[in-house]
Amino acid sequence: MTSSITYHKAIPEKWLNVETLHAAQLLPELQQPTIIQHPSKNPTQNPRWLITLQHANESSGLYAFVDIWKKLHQQQIELNHDLYFAIVNGYGATSRAEYPMFGRRFAPDQIDWNRCWNKPGETGRTDMPALQKEQVTELTQIIIQSQPQYVIDIHNTTGKNKPLAFVQERYAHNTLTHNLVDHIIYSGPLPGSLLDRFSDICETITIECGKTGTLDSYIACEKMIQTIIQHKTTNTNTTDSTKSPKFYQELGRMVIAETIDFSFYDAAKRRDIERGKFFVRSDIENLNQTAAAEFGSVGMYEGDEFPLRFLEHGIDKTAQYLQMNGNKLEIIKPAYGLLFTTNAHNIRVTELGYLMERVG
Ligand SMILES: [Zn+2]
Repeated sequence: MTSSITYHKAIPEKWLNVETLHAAQLLPELQQPTIIQHPSKNPTQNPRWLITLQHANESSGLYAFVDIWKKLHQQQIELNHDLYFAIVNGYGATSRAEYPMFGRRFAPDQIDWNRCWNKPGETGRTDMPALQKEQVTELTQIIIQSQPQYVIDIHNTTGKNKPLAFVQERYAHNTLTHNLVDHIIYSGPLPGSLLDRFSDICETITIECGKTGTLDSYIACEKMIQTIIQHKTTNTNTTDSTKSPKFYQELGRMVIAETIDFSFYDAAKRRDIERGKFFVRSDIENLNQTAAAEFGSVGMYEGDEFPLRFLEHGIDKTAQYLQMNGNKLEIIKPAYGLLFTTNAHNIRVTELGYLMERVG
């Protein structure tokens, strides 16, 4: 039935022999988006979807899947719902001459997978390759036909942060989200994202497990998947009363001006800076989920052009959020950091980080 994707009706037997930390051995078999079904013997509830590796440099989900498959198999865990695992971009995660394994968000002949999931009637990106379009159409049909109860999209960040979840506001107070993370962010509309596509269909959550390629983020991911699989949706299911997650709303993104060259500096040591170049604090990742006032200035700059822009849904609000204090660049609104990174490539092609405000 399918051509542009791979579909397994059960966890392939030989994959159960792959050691968890050797999960990358599976990449040659994941060159197409791959769905692995784990059927329940007696399903009384709708299925749950776990989707990962949309971003080919965010690997925690793949490693956790390999480990979870073993547990499901060895412990003969009986679930009352089918599970579907989807590994989206093993192709992009595969090494090439120009970059290592898990080295890029997407391959040179692809666009960002998490911008491909357009709703019917929505104008998608015109630069989407035909193959990706075919794949996303097929995946969407299969997910919708399964009548999912939950769709969970598993990501990592390139910077250091505590695990967090993005959800549409209508799902922010649901118990599953509260049982997963301490930091919940109301997601604004992001056309083409998986979250945007499926939130109308069922409870959809994007989880960010922490910095990609780290043991901490793998452990966090594994734990969250266990919670998702075992989550009970009966009336007796209550949120742990000790849990009181913090809620945030995204404000906008901080982007380094295209004409400005940038580098990093150690706030504790270096004082002399080069004119015209923006020096970002090398510990900028510690601003994630921290109040800007507590963190202090984000960088140093001396020159004629303002080096950083603050964009609120594409509208330039730099003057309202950022200002120079001597040669120090400061955030002047009460805000928290989100997804800040020191990955220079990511900073150039996307942003330095986001700001969010506490809500509720
Ligand atoms: Zn991602």
